Amino acid sequence: MPPPYFSCLIATQSVPELPEVETVVRGLRPHLEGATLAQVVVRRPDLRQPFPKDFARRLTGRRVVSLSRRAKYILAQLDDDVQLLAHLGMSGRMVLHTGPPPPPGKHDHVVFMTDRGTQVVFSDPRRFGLMTLIAPGEAPSHPLLRDIGPEPLGNAFDGPLLAERLRGKKTPLKAALLDQRVVAGLGNIYVCEALFQAGLSPRRQARTVGPVRAVRLATAIREVLHAAIAAGGSSLRDYVGSSGELGYFQHNFSVYDREGQPCPGCDCDGTVRRIVQSGRSTFFCPQRQR
Ligand SMILES: [Zn+2]
Repeated sequence: MPPPYFSCLIATQSVPELPEVETVVRGLRPHLEGATLAQVVVRRPDLRQPFPKDFARRLTGRRVVSLSRRAKYILAQLDDDVQLLAHLGMSGRMVLHTGPPPPPGKHDHVVFMTDRGTQVVFSDPRRFGLMTLIAPGEAPSHPLLRDIGPEPLGNAFDGPLLAERLRGKKTPLKAALLDQRVVAGLGNIYVCEALFQAGLSPRRQARTVGPVRAVRLATAIREVLHAAIAAGGSSLRDYVGSSGELGYFQHNFSVYDREGQPCPGCDCDGTVRRIVQSGRSTFFCPQRQR
């Protein structure tokens, strides 16, 4: 059990991807599941898009049945079968206060107060996040959810499935893996890391990833995500009761943001290279990754 009073920044230093969102869900779950939303305050009309009409009123008094993740979305199942869907965007964070909360900050846009006295504050300086409500039964056909590809940590995700998703794609492999319709939840960091681990070039055409390479890649994707979630979980544990900021991104990446540094755990004697693909930095080892 956490101490009676603590505030916890459940967030990250960079754009949240699957492991960060999963960490947020796991951090919030003990505080929200089973709790009733006693009061909901919305401090502005919109984030990336407008809040639904009567957003706060429709949530107030509802009990949170369960909290889950789909791709980079947080989903709260409510007791009237409506789902609250939240996306952290580029800079969104959930701040948890189990004691008396400080005065609201400039970027604190939504406050959820539970019947347990806990507050969850959604803070988002750049406002690329979003929150909306999904009517009962509408999740499978909802525009934000219906086209999302398989969960990489789901039981169905393996080499053959990944090979099928990449088949015929003439885009660079890096771009294909960032496409949420191909596989859910990956962003720039974990695509770079998974490609390095799998030894596959980010510039290779996606359609050239055959069955053998796809097994390697699917395994690498799962491994880097599991490792990041484990690091996030231990950061959450370390944080409780301490005074510092959640050091979630302190764990080391192999290639991400390491341009010019020695290539780690690789037989090559070179350094990590950076190139720009679709306007975003890719970090890789040209010798290891073919
Ligand atoms: Zn190397």
